Amino acid sequence: MVWERGRESSKIPARVKAFVRARDKVCQLGYPDICTGSIDEIDHIVGIAELRVERKHANDASNLRGVCVPCHKRRTQEQSMAGRRKHLRPPPPPPGLAK
Ligand SMILES: [Zn+2]
Repeated sequence: MVWERGRESSKIPARVKAFVRARDKVCQLGYPDICTGSIDEIDHIVGIAELRVERKHANDASNLRGVCVPCHKRRTQEQSMAGRRKHLRPPPPPPGLAK
């Protein structure tokens, strides 16, 4: 397993972080029980390991979102628990949405 925590976020350029903060304004994960709603950190929507692309592409603003510390921590835990198992399935649509 090549999971190195901390290494990926440190490579995001400061001005990209500033852009994501300005764009997202509030935490984009929003776990209801823990979210503070503020943007404390920047999360990779698709992890660098999953992307298998150059780091500079992974750190594009389109692959980043602002998150709060508690949500980011939980998300990181979920990602590492998922491990080799793909955990990228989109959730099923909520009932009643399909017409
Ligand atoms: Zn949050």
